[in-house]
Amino acid sequence: MIELLSNYAAGKWQGGHGTGYSLIDPVLGTELVRVDSTGLDLATAFAFARNNGGSALRHLTYPERAAMLGAASKVLQANKDLYYDISLKNSGTVKNDTAVDVDGGIYTLSTYAKLGASLSASHFLLDGDLALLGKDPLFQSQHLLTPTRGVALLINAFNFPSWGLWEKAAPALLSGVPVIVKPATATAWLTQRMVKDVIDAGIFPVGALSIICGSSAGLMDQLEPFDVVSFTGSAETAAIIRSHPAVTQKSVRVNIEADSVNSALLLPSERSANESFELLVKEVTREMTVKSGQKCTAIRRIFVPDSLYEAVAQAISARLDKITVGNPRNESVRMGAVVNREQFNSVLSGLAFLQEQTQVLHSASKHTLIEADPTTSCCTGPTLLGTRSATGSDAADRVHDTEVFGPVATIVPYRNNDLDHALQLIRRGQGSLVTSVYGHDHGELAKVVPELTDSHGRIHVISPDISTLNTGHGNVMPQSLHGGPGRAGGGEELGGLRALNFYHRRAAVQASTSVLSLLKPSSN
Ligand code: NAP
Repeated sequence: MIELLSNYAAGKWQGGHGTGYSLIDPVLGTELVRVDSTGLDLATAFAFARNNGGSALRHLTYPERAAMLGAASKVLQANKDLYYDISLKNSGTVKNDTAVDVDGGIYTLSTYAKLGASLSASHFLLDGDLALLGKDPLFQSQHLLTPTRGVALLINAFNFPSWGLWEKAAPALLSGVPVIVKPATATAWLTQRMVKDVIDAGIFPVGALSIICGSSAGLMDQLEPFDVVSFTGSAETAAIIRSHPAVTQKSVRVNIEADSVNSALLLPSERSANESFELLVKEVTREMTVKSGQKCTAIRRIFVPDSLYEAVAQAISARLDKITVGNPRNESVRMGAVVNREQFNSVLSGLAFLQEQTQVLHSASKHTLIEADPTTSCCTGPTLLGTRSATGSDAADRVHDTEVFGPVATIVPYRNNDLDHALQLIRRGQGSLVTSVYGHDHGELAKVVPELTDSHGRIHVISPDISTLNTGHGNVMPQSLHGGPGRAGGGEELGGLRALNFYHRRAAVQASTSVLSLLKPSSN
């Protein structure tokens, strides 16, 4: 008998009334569990979260809520083995890849617990200092941030069922805003189990944390003006969210984290096989293969001087040769599956689309699957492409527009000693989450940074002195901003306490300085 996972809404566990949707093991093809939200009373669920959860959370101070995040992270830590097992079965990931999601989520939660503990024991935050409005200093302006009196609807992508949940829920709950989580259906099991463990532990007030698994139908219709929606997923679904009447007519605040064609750049002055070269090669290989390339931050485009094109291709290909692909239950396997048949087919069709404008420098066919049936499993080896042509690489446009959400990346050569050409090519990605720059000359690295910050949310600058200290291109650290302009969705998440802004309303208070002096963060 296949288990039907419950939803937690309006303060109680409730099953859907339909037959549900099956979650599948992408390596074995077996059915694991089912999810269903048919027939749930969504209006009551949202009202309960807003009224009961929101009100209880707002009565607590920031450090009190931070302590709850800390307690939740301990509960999750204690159940980690179970989460690894679910990830193995439902996401087809090897242990190291599961860690990026599971441990990354717990680390993010505990980081917000620490950040929140440092805030004043208050119910609102001051934003900036008093500002003079005229000559007489008795009448001034002070900006105040108060938690929004609504609910945060968190809609997540399939590739990070743990991290995607906690990187959104932690700042929302710390802000005092209740959350309703809608995980991507394909991998909803892990999210549901983590939420269940935290709810069962009785840490948060009832209504602070809810989960609805299954169809997204009707969720956006519930939103009211003070609610917010934080979305992670494809550009296509993002467009639907943005054009929903809740957003266009009720001004529901929306944050979008969408797809992104991220890049890595080797500076013009680098030489074959020097330290910067090797660092780029190693990181590109890791980015292509961690979570089978199913990371929104993964390096998709590799910009190198034309003279180094072949050397970089050979070095990456040599490293890719060592990547063993197949069933993550086998200890020798380094790369597991993509999440399901739909994604597998999408990787193959995206690859075919890119191949019309590129050459294959390393073929997936070099990788024989280990303990995985090539006809039924969703496993594929990594593919490295390149855009070198007699007329230069400018004509190949698809590589800048197409996110193949799998183990695929493309080398794009730029004219030797022509950094401007490299920057022009990078900008054709129309806004990305992250770019990495590799070089040994600190002056050159510092010079290129402001050329990239307008079109990226994060710049990962790698020189040999930090080769063992850096946190990696694709790892999203809670202390640093996550999100990117343009095509990447235009959203902003994390960045330490900056993340709280999205869940607060800012108001200017114009009053006697005597009144303003009483608006101390520690007052109720
Ligand atoms: P998706 O198909 O767009 O789905 C994302 C989420 O939206 C899922 O929970 C989905 O539910 C839900 N959804 C679908 N239609 C909806 C609607 N009409 N109204 C409300 N919600 C709706 O994306 P995905 O395939 O799960 O994720 C892969 C994409 O996410 C990639 O393009 C990747 O780059 C991007 N991503 C971006 C980031 C980032 O931080 N920028 C992080 C991770 C992934 P169902 O699953 O039930 O359809």
